[in-house]
Amino acid sequence: MINETSLKIVEEAESECSEIFEKLNKICLYNQNKILDAFRKVNINLSDIASSTGYGNDDRAKGKLGELYATAFGGEAGIVSPLISSGTHALTIALFGILRPGDIMFSVTGKPYDTLIDVIFKEGIGSLKDFKIEYRDVDLKDNDFDIDNIIFKLKELKPKMLYIQRSRGYTTRESLSIEKIERLITEVRKIDTNVIIMVDNCYGEFVELREPCDVGADVMVGSLIKNAGGGIAPTGAYIVGKQKYIEQISSRFIAPGIGLEIGSYAGSYTPFFQGAFLAPHVVLNALKGNILFGKILDKLNIKSFPEFGKMPHDIVRTIEFGDKEKLIEFCRIIQRLSPVDSNVVPYPWDMPGYNDQVIMAAGAFVQGSSIELSADGPIREPFYCYMQGGLTYEHLKIVAIEFVNTFYK
Ligand SMILES: *Cc1c(COP(=O)(O)O)cnc(C)c1O
Repeated sequence: MINETSLKIVEEAESECSEIFEKLNKICLYNQNKILDAFRKVNINLSDIASSTGYGNDDRAKGKLGELYATAFGGEAGIVSPLISSGTHALTIALFGILRPGDIMFSVTGKPYDTLIDVIFKEGIGSLKDFKIEYRDVDLKDNDFDIDNIIFKLKELKPKMLYIQRSRGYTTRESLSIEKIERLITEVRKIDTNVIIMVDNCYGEFVELREPCDVGADVMVGSLIKNAGGGIAPTGAYIVGKQKYIEQISSRFIAPGIGLEIGSYAGSYTPFFQGAFLAPHVVLNALKGNILFGKILDKLNIKSFPEFGKMPHDIVRTIEFGDKEKLIEFCRIIQRLSPVDSNVVPYPWDMPGYNDQVIMAAGAFVQGSSIELSADGPIREPFYCYMQGGLTYEHLKIVAIEFVNTFYK
């Protein structure tokens, strides 16, 4: 049952969102057209969407999927495969595909996402460090690139790779707009035409009109169980960019000298193609719901980011609950109102790799999918919660109504 009083409050908030919703609708229209154009350019036929077995020499879908994402995302070539298990896996393949002993990886957005720390630093497990690949970084300054410092270090270090993480990860910084990324790349290219620019694009796909490769990035990477898979790709990730780097990365992905010649998938490729087609609209739904939530949180005097009125640069909302019980209650609402596993009650737990207890809510069709509605937060001051996804706007609206039921006093 929908509570009419709470619905009224949510609808009031919704009416204040109309201006920003219009802008998002327009972005979605252009992105839908972009992906439709890519389908037509690459010429996807039903016979291309067939599954394969064994070596997969006859698997046409993987080649077409790579071309499709490369075309839509401004790259020359792409690797898109269910054989890549996660965003971290794809980022790892890309790093190891490009970097060689003695090279320097230079991150200009501070320390990368949590799961990459071991990939880069941990000794004795085959990390970049074990292969004598060095790492340096520069932190962001006032939520933007510290361009002077970056240029100074670039001249001094002569790194092989400049690395950008577009979304915020588990930090409180803002996500980077394509405009900011473009400005940085323009400055970098004035003094260095060789450094390979790689972008972790997770959570950023289809949020803006352009993607990092459209503004000069050489390689970009993202997960198919976030924005890029449209909520129905059951696993996988993409890597797109310049042909020569994609070739190097495919050597690492499968084997040197073989690359994408082999690789099969006996499951159905249909959800990968259909997911790509649906992705702009699913991202729109998630964004609208996310912004509606921002407005409602404002009304309840709960701080959250991005601030209302600002255009989003990813699909994540950071909520500052300032109170452990509220954070837990919020996660439980999300779980209870999920289509799957609604009977599960989330509790804070000691998750490997984290110093504090973490609470997570997700009742998703695809395990771990965060384009489906999910929320998680570490149990520590000031009790931040990261909320993202939502396949339909109406689902997010229903959760918002329940949120108002619980928290509006
Ligand atoms: C999700 C994410 C990743 C990759 O995470 P996986 O869980 O391995 O898919 C990397 N970087 C950022 C910023 C992310 O949000």
